[in-house]
Amino acid sequence: CGIIGFTGKREAQSILLDGLASLEYRGYDSAGIAYFKDTGKISIRKTVGKVADLRAICDDDNNSTCGIGHTRWATHGGVTNANAHPHKVGNVALIHNGIIENYHELVETYDLQSQLISETDTEVAAALFNKLYNGDPEATIKKAVKLFCGSFAFCIMFKDHPGKIYAVRNVSPMVATYCKEGSFIASDLTAFIAYSKRYFIVPEYHILTMSADGILLHDLDGHAVEPEYLEVNWDV
Ligand code: GLU
Repeated sequence: CGIIGFTGKREAQSILLDGLASLEYRGYDSAGIAYFKDTGKISIRKTVGKVADLRAICDDDNNSTCGIGHTRWATHGGVTNANAHPHKVGNVALIHNGIIENYHELVETYDLQSQLISETDTEVAAALFNKLYNGDPEATIKKAVKLFCGSFAFCIMFKDHPGKIYAVRNVSPMVATYCKEGSFIASDLTAFIAYSKRYFIVPEYHILTMSADGILLHDLDGHAVEPEYLEVNWDV
């Protein structure tokens, strides 16, 4: 339902929690964040309920500068903590908006059942990314997205690529920006408009690589694409 991601020069947790709070108007049943700790590990906090409930289980001394956040509107699998996003399988932690229609077939074809602890279509996608992962995030994403039927906006972190967030979408909306604080991505502009009025619409089936130093965009053939920045003039 709602997505926010940040990697940059500021503490990420409050940006993620405030971003999720600004997306609350869309309606949701669960909320969660994943972030890189300074040890290089990925930590997850998630819960059924409101962003305020999520805030209550987050550490106050979190100084991570890279993370992703999600508010879930359950489509596949009930409203439970296990089904809340982010989902982590092996090297991969991700959040997802949309529906992976062929998730049953993917579980069968790629023998993913033993990796799954939730009932969501999303966790199947995490397991597939992990299964295909060969140390090269862009190549892995390129392979995986060709196998999905349905709608998706994914923000993905790979354990051995700290400080980076990868994103790709089909149908489900995503916007992004690079500004002086760092790189932001969200399902809608309200989540980061406090930091930037410049943004671009993430083109479908393009791979976004976000770091504290900028955003790279490639099409599925590996060609670099220049993001087309737009600007809003709302007052906030
Ligand atoms: N289909 C996913 C789920 O049920 C994502 C739902 C959403 O877009 O929030 O977990």
